[in-house]
Amino acid sequence: MLSTNDFTLKEARLSNNCPECYSNDSMEIVFKQKQKENVFYKFVSPEIFSEITCYNCNTKIFPVMWTDDIENVVSYHKRGIQPQSKSIKLKPFAWAFIIFDILLVTGIVLYVSGVFSK
Ligand SMILES: [Zn+2]
Repeated sequence: MLSTNDFTLKEARLSNNCPECYSNDSMEIVFKQKQKENVFYKFVSPEIFSEITCYNCNTKIFPVMWTDDIENVVSYHKRGIQPQSKSIKLKPFAWAFIIFDILLVTGIVLYVSGVFSK
């Protein structure tokens, strides 16, 4: 059970013309950083991706549709972003699991080496 829980780093309004409906000042770009988590850990990936949506025609503007102007603006905004550094955080459940494992392994080792036998 790995859920993707991306978080937003930056949102900006673009004044470029939408490649779909040609309206200007209706596109918004969102920069997100990928984050995955399950019951054991939370992983912040260094991967950043951006999504452009035009709120005039309600279309997602995919990178293949970007004009040179849009690309320039995107790279301009991208420079100002400070992503979180890549990290893995273990959750309390993971620690409990690890400690339980250590105890279990220790128990087995002690049992196998004959500590418990009389
Ligand atoms: Zn549009």
